[in-house]
Amino acid sequence: MALAYGGIEAGGTKWVCAVGTGPDDVRALVTFPTTTPDETVARAVAFFAEHDIAALGIGSFGPVDLKHGRITTTPKPGWANTDVAGAFDVPVAFDTDVNAAAVGEGRWGAARGLDTFCYVTVGTGIGGGVVSGGRLVHGLVHPELGHLAIPHDRTRDPFDGSCPFHGDCLEGLASGTALQHRWGLPAEELTDPGAWALEAEYLAYAVVNIAFAVSPQCVILGGGVMKEPTLLPLVRARTLELLAGYVAGPEVVLPALGDRAGVLGAIELARLQSSNP
Ligand code: ZN
Repeated sequence: MALAYGGIEAGGTKWVCAVGTGPDDVRALVTFPTTTPDETVARAVAFFAEHDIAALGIGSFGPVDLKHGRITTTPKPGWANTDVAGAFDVPVAFDTDVNAAAVGEGRWGAARGLDTFCYVTVGTGIGGGVVSGGRLVHGLVHPELGHLAIPHDRTRDPFDGSCPFHGDCLEGLASGTALQHRWGLPAEELTDPGAWALEAEYLAYAVVNIAFAVSPQCVILGGGVMKEPTLLPLVRARTLELLAGYVAGPEVVLPALGDRAGVLGAIELARLQSSNP
C-alpha cells in the first residue's frame, strides 16, 4: 500500500486524528473530546502508534508557537504553553487548525485551483487561515482573523462581547459562544431572523475587512454556526452592500470538505513537509 500520512485537527472541543492520503483514502479516523493536555495528547500518540505513517501534520487551536509546535496563550484552562508536536516520534508539520483547513480546501475543496483565499471557522471561537500567492501566511505569529475589530452598534446590540482578551472583537460578537451568551440559546436552537441578520452583519464586516486586507479570490466560511441555512445568503448580500461597488469582492462559500477540512488539511501539511523538508 502507498505511503500514508497522519493528520490531527487539534480543536479546543475535540480532536480528530486520521491516517491516509486524502478524502478518498482515509484508512483510519478517530474523534475524541479535548480533555486535559496529558490525556488528549496521549490518546493521539496511542492512535498513531498503531499505524505506519511517514509524517504527521497537526492543525492546532491557538494561538500557537509555530516554530516549537506549542500552544501558547489560549484561554482554555490547562492548555496554555502545551507542547503538542514534541510528543510524536515522526516528522511533524505544525500549523494552526484554520491554516490546515485552508490547505485542505485548497488541495481538494472549495478553493481548488485558487492561489489566494481564506478559511474562516465560525464555531465556539472564530479563527481564520490565509493562503496568499499559493503560500500559507505566517508572519510574526500567524493571522488571527477571529479577533478583527468590527463596528459594534450598542443601540442595536447592547451585548458587551465574549472575548476574554478584547470583549467585542469578531469572536466576541459572532462566535457560537457569543450567540449563546447574547441570546441564551446555542446556535442550533436559534430561530429568530433578527438574530441571524445581526450575525450576518458581523460576518459580512469580517469578509469585507479580509477582502480589503488580503484581496482573496474566495472566503470559505466553515464551523458549526455556518450550518444555519439562512446565514450564508445573508452574509453574501450584506458583503456586497458593504463593499459598495468599490472593488470586486471574493466568492463567499461553505467548505466543500465539510467538517473534514481540518484533518485532511493536516494530512496534506504532512505530505507537503515530506516532499519539501
Ligand atoms: Zn478577541
